Order: sequence, then C-alpha cells, then structure tokens
Amino acid sequence: MASTQARHWRTATRALATIRRRQQVTRTELANLLGLRSGPTSDLVKRLVQAELISEQSAEQTGRGRPTTTLHASPSGPVALVLDLRHGDWRLGTCDLDGTVTIHEAGGHDGVAPDQLLDTLAQRLRRLATAYGDRVVGAGVTVPGLAVDGRLSMPMLDWRDLDTTSLTSAVDRPVVLGNDATMAGVAEARLHPAELNSLLHIVVEVGVGGALIADGQPIPSAHGLHGEFGHLPFGDPGLRCPCGARGCWTAAFHLVEVARRTGVDATADPRSWLQRLYSHPDDSNAIRGAMTSLAADLGRGIAGLINALDPSLVTLGGLANLVRFASVGAFYDALNGGLMSAHRARSPQIVEAIAGDDATLVGMGLSVFDQVLDAELLARWASRRSGTA
Ligand SMILES: [Zn+2]
Repeated sequence: MASTQARHWRTATRALATIRRRQQVTRTELANLLGLRSGPTSDLVKRLVQAELISEQSAEQTGRGRPTTTLHASPSGPVALVLDLRHGDWRLGTCDLDGTVTIHEAGGHDGVAPDQLLDTLAQRLRRLATAYGDRVVGAGVTVPGLAVDGRLSMPMLDWRDLDTTSLTSAVDRPVVLGNDATMAGVAEARLHPAELNSLLHIVVEVGVGGALIADGQPIPSAHGLHGEFGHLPFGDPGLRCPCGARGCWTAAFHLVEVARRTGVDATADPRSWLQRLYSHPDDSNAIRGAMTSLAADLGRGIAGLINALDPSLVTLGGLANLVRFASVGAFYDALNGGLMSAHRARSPQIVEAIAGDDATLVGMGLSVFDQVLDAELLARWASRRSGTA
C-alpha cells in the first residue's frame, strides 16, 4: 500500500511539473504527455483536486471529442514567496503552481544601505510567510547581479559580496537566490505556446543581460553564473566595466552615460529616462545618434550570440524591443552583418517577450517549485489536507 501511495505521488509530481511547463494544459494533453490512459488520468486529476493542488476549468471545445478541462493551480494550493530586488526598487509577492503571480508589497530603496535593506526585506518576507502559513513551500529572490554561495554582488550599484543569510534564513523553508534575467528567460520559455529546444532571452534594463534556456531550464553551469552576456567583450576595450572586466558589451547600455552624451543627467532614474526618450523622441542629432548606436550595439551582440548558441527563438525583454524598433534599420544592418551566413539563411525569429513586468517573479516562482516539489512533500501536503497526518 505504502509503495502504491509513493507511486501515486511520484506520478503527481510529474503531472505538476507538466503544469509548470505547459500553461493551461488540458486533461487530454496531460494524459498524452504522461503516457496515461483516460481512467488513471481521471483518478490522478481527482486526487490532485481533492488535495487542493489543482483546480479544473472547462476548456474551449476545439474538436469533436468529449469536452475536456484545463488544469490550473488551486486557489488554496501551495505558494512560493517571490521577491524581486531591482536597481531602484523591490517587489514581494506569491506565485501559484501554474506561475500566477500576485504582488503584495513594493517599495523603493534609493540611498538605503544594502545590509539594512536586506534586513528589512527579510522581515517582510517573514511576515508574508506567516500570513500564508503551511501553504508556503519555499521562497526565491531575484537580483540584478550575481548570487554565488549565498553572497550577493550587484556591481552596477557597487554592492559587493554581501552576506544574504538574513534573507535566506528569513523563513523556515528553502530560499533560493537567482539572477533576474535568467528567471525572466525561464518564464518566457514556460509561457511560450510552442515547445522550444532552446530560447535566448535578452533584456535591456540599466545594462544588457540575458539567459539561454534549454528545455525550460537555465543551462547548467559551474557556479550558476551562466548568461552574463552583458560582459562579453563586444564593447570598447578601453572601458573598464564595474564587473572588473574590460570592453564589456553592457557598457554601451550604461544608460547614465548614454544620457550624459545627449546632455541629460539621468543618474537618479536612468530607466525612466530611456522610456521617456523612446516614447517622445526629439529630433536632435544627439538623440538620434544615441538611439541608432544602441540599436546597432544590440543587433551586433545578438548576432554574436546566435552564432555561438544557435537558439530556436530570441525573445527581447525589458526595454530591448523599444531599442530595436527605435532604429530598426540600424538594428537589422548590424544583426545581418554579424550573422554567419549559415544563420542568415534561417535566422531564428526575434520577438518581443510575452511574460511582461512580472517575468522575473514568474520564472523564480516556477523554479522554486521545480526544486522543492517532490513526491514526499506532496504526500505530506495531501495528508495535512485530508486531516490524516
Ligand atoms: Zn562587465
């Protein structure tokens, strides 16, 4: 009996992983993906609904077959707490099993000492964990920088080697740290309607970054630092980047510096400056020159990455799509000039990202579930829900 139960929860783990990989999966698709016949699929779905892990909604009827349902997170199901620490602000929320994010709190941190900020965020994380009680299965924190062995560096803010113990011990559950662009890439891959072999996600924010996502997951790397594409030497070799290297691609996207060249001091909020620039461009030579050169830098860098990585699709997040279309000729001239002829004939599509402003939180929430949801946790969860501990 015990081994039958264990097998049930192992199948349930695979079913929930499928729901995290494919949005709005139907009962029929789930059966096909898991290789189950309709009877066992019905039993499985019934068990997951009873355990308050998923809920079912009627799906649009597309064929002649019997009506089917789409599978979603249960409104009283497990949640991952997700915290997105950005250059000027932060957002704290919850993510459901199917990647639905709800933001609970947000705030700015300009001028706040980093240690003090991490302590404050740890308190808020703890408070949210208390509010959600035993529904919390883990937490994830995304940062616009490097997180290695619990130490956090955000070179663009000159934050170096910070101890994150206050955050990672804030709740009595696993807490993981991750790079924001990598997590946004995970969200893109999971939300994309087609199954993708590999997806290259490029983000322009205060600098440029990205991630290569293969089969829905960031590619494995020695220290979890893959995807620091902004620090490829596509830039001026005479410039030292805050990361410590010379000639980084991201230096071309250092928005405070780009603004300074157009006669504007954008130190306080460079992102808003760029958004304003693109929504109301003026016709001065300096502005036109800045937009053309950013678009060309973006196109050239993406060409290099396509040559190296051969992705199935390229998605543009943050402000990257604005940069492309503000000077579309410069972008495609640089892109086509930089592509190997083998890629020029069948270049991957380059499309705007679809996951929106919450992409980092969606990707991180789904990654937390990937790491913590196993048969043992599900069996414990179900026994608590049925009151038979
Ligand atoms: Zn660098």
